[in-house]
Amino acid sequence: MTLEVAPETWTRRQAGSWLPARLNEKLFQGAMERQMKTVYSASNISLVSIFQGILAGYGIRCWIKNEFLCAGIGEIPPIECWPLLCVDDDDFEEAKRIVDDALSDKDLPVWKCDACGEVIEGQFTECWNCGKRCPL
Ligand SMILES: [Zn+2]
Repeated sequence: MTLEVAPETWTRRQAGSWLPARLNEKLFQGAMERQMKTVYSASNISLVSIFQGILAGYGIRCWIKNEFLCAGIGEIPPIECWPLLCVDDDDFEEAKRIVDDALSDKDLPVWKCDACGEVIEGQFTECWNCGKRCPL
């Protein structure tokens, strides 16, 4: 389950406000006043981590906000506890495009393995049954 989130602007000072100041400065390397925007959010931290990895693969630095906030569920509305994947304002357009591209892969058509005849969902590039790659 994913949620479209209005781009939220916040600073790294806010992001690290729960950290000891020395560690906070080390993590955020003096660029604390630069703006960050939310590029993706989901109820599942694993999904957010996957997109963090994808963006990192493109060389885009990103941070997860609310990573540990799920402990507050019950007192805070659940959606406000969802982890947020945030990037520098300067990287937002490219990051958003990459995330949207990755999400749209879910709409790929199913394909039939030409080795074993198994029907495979479009997001998979290999046959789960025999390991042969998608012919496309
Ligand atoms: Zn196969």
